[in-house]
Amino acid sequence: MTNPLAGKVVFVTGASRGIGRSIAADAARAGASLALFATNAEALESVAGECRAAGAPTVTVHALDVADPAAVQKGVEDALAAHGACHGLVNNAGITRDGLLMRMGDEDVRRVLQVNLESAFWFTRAVTRPMMKQREGSIVNVTSVVGVTGNAGQSNYAASKAGLIGFTKSVAQELGARGIRVNAVAPGFVETDMTSKLPDDARKAMLAGVPLGRTAQPGEISPVVTFLLSPAASYVTGQTIAVDGGMT
Ligand code: NAP
Repeated sequence: MTNPLAGKVVFVTGASRGIGRSIAADAARAGASLALFATNAEALESVAGECRAAGAPTVTVHALDVADPAAVQKGVEDALAAHGACHGLVNNAGITRDGLLMRMGDEDVRRVLQVNLESAFWFTRAVTRPMMKQREGSIVNVTSVVGVTGNAGQSNYAASKAGLIGFTKSVAQELGARGIRVNAVAPGFVETDMTSKLPDDARKAMLAGVPLGRTAQPGEISPVVTFLLSPAASYVTGQTIAVDGGMT
């Protein structure tokens, strides 16, 4: 299919850079209209320009903190008013605040859980009613291999990502009968701002566990998300798809 998302509206969180930016551009190439969410309004505008150039009929930007439930409800209502529908939601926004548990501060635990996990509750809850009315929807949660394997120094991040997998399976069961599919994508080691500060030895140790022997580019994650958003994945729900070079 040339434009598998033609006529569809997709909401993407964390769309201002990295994997989210690539997800937005890929959905635009597939013909989707987009609502883009992140905190950096200027960066979002630049991604919106790329998406329009790639073929997205309509693109709106919504600068907000995904961890703030009231802001998310308002942002989703604004996006629904602008687009008239939401067929796809990608919960991609995420942060790390790494450290060993014994030294981890309260805010490092809370903030990571709020941004990475709670935000998926707020966005998914806000789009559920319109998707149920349409009897159609596809939700993709961006988790991580670390949510499956765990990782020393990332107990907060791993817990948030493991939480997303449980969330995915539960909501898939709640909404399946309404024609709404819910899946997760679990990337391995992807070259973005999030991984750029990793020390060389940590990078080497990580790569030793990757059968493909290299890191991924964001553009190697986004096509899997586009697939899950598209009708080609019409019988796929409740799944976590690893895109990790064979790590897990
Ligand atoms: P990134 O380059 O650091 O981008 C993170 C995105 O999340 C940005 O668009 C950022 O927007 C947004 N964001 C962060 N906090 C936010 C907040 N409070 N409110 C709104 N937006 C917020 O990271 P990435 O590598 O692309 O990661 C994207 C997702 O993939 C994350 O969920 C991450 O956990 C997951 N992942 C990444 C890797 C990897 O190796 N990179 C591996 C597995 C999973 P602003 O800067 O505009 O706020």
